[in-house]
Amino acid sequence: MEIARTAVELDAALAPWREGRIGLVPTMGALHPGHLSLLGLARQSGATRLVASIFVNPSQFGPHEDLARYPRTPEQDASALAAAGCDLLFLPTADSVYPPGFASWIEPLGPALGLEGTERPGHFRGVATVVARLFALVRPQLAVLGRKDAQQLAVVRRLVEDLGLPVEIVAAPIFREPDGLAMSSRNRYLSPAERSAAAAIPRALELARAAIEGGEREAATIRGLLVEALSREPLVERVDYAEVVDAESFAPLDRLAGEIVIPVAVRIGATRLLDNLQLELS
Ligand code: AMP
Repeated sequence: MEIARTAVELDAALAPWREGRIGLVPTMGALHPGHLSLLGLARQSGATRLVASIFVNPSQFGPHEDLARYPRTPEQDASALAAAGCDLLFLPTADSVYPPGFASWIEPLGPALGLEGTERPGHFRGVATVVARLFALVRPQLAVLGRKDAQQLAVVRRLVEDLGLPVEIVAAPIFREPDGLAMSSRNRYLSPAERSAAAAIPRALELARAAIEGGEREAATIRGLLVEALSREPLVERVDYAEVVDAESFAPLDRLAGEIVIPVAVRIGATRLLDNLQLELS
């Protein structure tokens, strides 16, 4: 596996591969099997060369968030990527992503409003801008993003559509631990007791799924059921939200219909965890 840190190194590594289809998996590192599954999906989706990027993007963190302590494990990440068949690891310097004088920010609206957009002001501005920069640097034919971050996926799809970016976005299913907890780099912040309490999140989502399979279509009922199930776990400090939204617009729904996402954000101790359920209803 090659490693590039600047735009010049990246161009040199990618030049011989441009005839084929370049698949990009953008990440912030501290990789887990969920991240690696995105590489497999890029291959299955027709990528002939796999590029992973690791960049802990400062602009998507708020002033009181975990930027400084975000886990960084570059050596383990590089060996895991090489073992998973990655051809190139792009580990950009901050200057490569935001060159001196950088002054153009993307302000996403639509699906970026509400939920994470409200809880983390400026977050999606940072995400949209870094994704656009990574696409401009790598120029991939396809990029794989996880459904774990369903709102981010909707924001990036909208961005690609609105700006006419020549990249296909492929969505990867949520990769989970055996007890159902969605894999996340932030799970390593959890104490053992918090880690077992966190399984309440996928259990609550499964209760919602069962209610919907039983015919429930009122969003308020689903929200109530989720908040109740999550609040029953004593280590859940707060439910930031439990919503029912349209998968594309991320607009809240009153009644469940079409392609929907049921996203939840929960605080367990000092750790904020996201999960969601995605369903297509007739
Ligand atoms: P991150 O490093 O957290 O920015 O994540 C990088 C990419 O991996 C994003 O597209 C995430 O949605 C995706 N991802 C993270 N965790 C998972 C998971 N458990 N299952 C599927 N995709 C994931």
